Amino acid sequence: SDAEQPGVIDLRERRVQAGSPEPEIRLERGGKHFGEVEVFRDLDLAIPTGQVVSIIGPSGSGKTTLIRCLNGLETLDRGIVHLKGVPVLAGTQETATIPAGKQKRHLLEVGMVFQSFNLFPHRTVLENVMLGPIYHNRAPRPQVEAAARAILGQVGMLAHENKYPHQLSGGQQQRVAIARALAMEPSILLFDEPTSALDPETVGEVLRIIADLARSGRTMVIVTHEMKFALQVSDRIIFMEKGRIQFDGTPDALRDRPQHGDRLAEFARL
Ligand code: ADP
Repeated sequence: SDAEQPGVIDLRERRVQAGSPEPEIRLERGGKHFGEVEVFRDLDLAIPTGQVVSIIGPSGSGKTTLIRCLNGLETLDRGIVHLKGVPVLAGTQETATIPAGKQKRHLLEVGMVFQSFNLFPHRTVLENVMLGPIYHNRAPRPQVEAAARAILGQVGMLAHENKYPHQLSGGQQQRVAIARALAMEPSILLFDEPTSALDPETVGEVLRIIADLARSGRTMVIVTHEMKFALQVSDRIIFMEKGRIQFDGTPDALRDRPQHGDRLAEFARL
């Protein structure tokens, strides 16, 4: 119900910013298996700059594996990942190889927010947000610190800058994790079920932050089970089932489909 997501603004009418003609990220003919399990094959996906895409679907359909392949956390067997038209990752069975240095440099542009936050437990909130930019020599320390504080302000966590992760609620930890991803100034942000490890009462605060980011014109891919949220904030919904994209269209197109008769209709009613 609406009460569960106060402040989430309906963004359907938001226009996608005119971006570069090359998609921000593109998977070309992606293929991936784990042992005997083929997760997907010949999968193509292109995300234009500024687009907010939600990927939905039953568990085990390959959503998480797909976005982990987009940022190199999983290795593709087949296919190429392009960032703004530049190939940055190649499947292990592809003949094309991409120099490791080039991969790393480009993959820093892909931010990731995990289901389970993955904050450094022995570092404060501020330190967690500063570590990436410091490690990658993005700027002198005082500048990195000022930027980290600004971002913590943006996600409503500045008052907690000196706390450690265990002193925070799940929702607060996830907001810090979002700040940490933003601190690297990614050109695309991937979210892997960002609210599914949260207590129900802190889901809304995290969804609000993600909605703010969506409204600001960031390119984002969100794997989520929050159907209502996905319909509100996304420009595009992708429904995956058994490794295949079964629906790819606007929230309105999804709403206009018959309300029963297939798996997506069943799923979209949940
Ligand atoms: P979803 O995100 O849609 O729930 P996943 O991408 O997590 O789907 O999983 C897709 C399939 O790949 C499932 O059959 C899952 O069991 C399998 N799988 C995912 N990760 C691994 C892994 N690290 N090792 C083996 N099998 C995996």
